Amino acid sequence: MGAGPGGLCSAYVLSKAGVPTTVLEKAPFVGGLARTIRRQTDYGEFRFDIGGHRWFTKNDELNALFREVVADELLWVNRISRIYFDGKYVDYPLKISNALKAIGPVVAAKAMADYGRTRVQQRISPRAVESMEDAYIDQFGPTLYRLFFQRYSEKVWGLPCDQMSGDWVSQRSKGMSLVTAVKDAVVPTKGKVVSLIDEFMYPRGGFGRFSDRMADAIIGAGNDIRLNTGVEKVHREGNRVVGVTVSTEDGSKRVEADNYISSIPLTLLAKIMDPAPSAEILAAADALTFRNIITVNLMLKKRQVTPDTWLYVHDRNILFGRFHEPKNWSPVMVPSDDLTSLVVEYFCSFGDHIWSMSEEELVAQTVRHLVDDLGFITPDEVVGGFTIRAPRAYPAYVIGYEKPLARIREFIGELDNLQIIGRYGTFRYNNTDHSIETGLLAAKNILGESHDLDQVNADDEYHEIKRVAEPVAAGRT
Ligand SMILES: Cc1cc2nc3c(=O)[nH]c(=O)nc-3n(C[C@H](O)[C@H](O)[C@H](O)COP(=O)(O)OP(=O)(O)OC[C@H]3O[C@@H](n4cnc5c(N)ncnc54)[C@H](O)[C@@H]3O)c2cc1C
Repeated sequence: MGAGPGGLCSAYVLSKAGVPTTVLEKAPFVGGLARTIRRQTDYGEFRFDIGGHRWFTKNDELNALFREVVADELLWVNRISRIYFDGKYVDYPLKISNALKAIGPVVAAKAMADYGRTRVQQRISPRAVESMEDAYIDQFGPTLYRLFFQRYSEKVWGLPCDQMSGDWVSQRSKGMSLVTAVKDAVVPTKGKVVSLIDEFMYPRGGFGRFSDRMADAIIGAGNDIRLNTGVEKVHREGNRVVGVTVSTEDGSKRVEADNYISSIPLTLLAKIMDPAPSAEILAAADALTFRNIITVNLMLKKRQVTPDTWLYVHDRNILFGRFHEPKNWSPVMVPSDDLTSLVVEYFCSFGDHIWSMSEEELVAQTVRHLVDDLGFITPDEVVGGFTIRAPRAYPAYVIGYEKPLARIREFIGELDNLQIIGRYGTFRYNNTDHSIETGLLAAKNILGESHDLDQVNADDEYHEIKRVAEPVAAGRT
């Protein structure tokens, strides 16, 4: 269920093992959140990811799978990712020497002093880290939190950081702190190299090619991917799923299998169970929330806007959070070298002021920000723009989310032949690598192995860091 990278990976692995497999996908395309949109214009074809997707994982098996699928379309991209901060650029993820320089000596001294105070306080009377705010302050101190984390996090989540769970921070930046960053800046680690990744793999024709190529292999193996086929009911008897009802252009149909893998939103899965689960499980499904994303895709008569792979914009007056320039990832993303494009990301929720804006308003607002507030482009350089709306793009770890999530997972866990995988499929903030890892392990379980999918993305090292025996550029995985 679901033909994003997670579901496709399961079907890809099963297809290679010769197992008859059917993928059911509600949308008219594969790739889910990780697809690439192609737009024909008078200038030629532009391509846009839904927010730039880079491939990065510390898992060698997944790297091998990605290389096998993407094969001759593989590119290495240099990563330059920065925060645009009060007219200055600061490296992202935060590089401490650079961040302290950008804020000036007085604020830098204050940042170091209040971080020191936080550490001493935590030693004397340790306070539990519950919220996102607690977690950031614990790692970076109050000043750096307010300068570099608070505003952006509030844009992403639409809630104050003291209402969001600290789990997100620990999942994303475990092992990072002001102490380790300063230590690494002053005394470079010997023996083992600790490296912020500065290059990543990317398919030449856009990240969606990864999904397209898995889909080609699945169909090539004689298996079936049914598009425009939304799962509407999941029928259960005792502790087994016995079939699903799907809606198609020709009406409703029942599909049956021995084993089921779901990457559709976990909250939806709970709600479409037949017979319906208890009122408690349904209430738990309602208690879990998510954030939507809208991308504004601009096509520009300009060679380059910035050299960045991503640029983060924290300023509260600017409604978007981040943008990337697809050409900096692959030249194939624009029709010619005289042209470029931007993918500008707005985080929002159903019914809020951003979600309610029309396509024209969003494009005009984006151009105004880029021209008037940031000075990155001029109005005459814009040759076109359109929006993509991606609902439920970010599972939101709002404080208290753990209990309802555990209840739903417990309920689903009682069904022996149903596995949940992916990002919203497991309600975990998974990147593509984690999403396909769950897909891979679910397929292996069907093939007779025994893997605990809950252990995926539960490691305790910062995602951006790979501990390697040799420099990343030499090892390149
Ligand atoms: C802005 C943004 C930037 C990102 N950047 C990166 C990055 O740089 N690197 C990275 O690795 N990851 C990145 N990600 C994460 C990545 O997109 C996800 O991890 C990945 O797409 C999850 O794959 P999935 O298969 O679990 O889910 P999805 O891609 O969400 O696929 C789920 C599929 O299920 C289908 N579906 C839903 N309901 C039904 C139904 N009832 N019946 C049938 N089908 C249904 C959907 O249409 C969809 O195709 C980013 C995500 C976003 C939003």
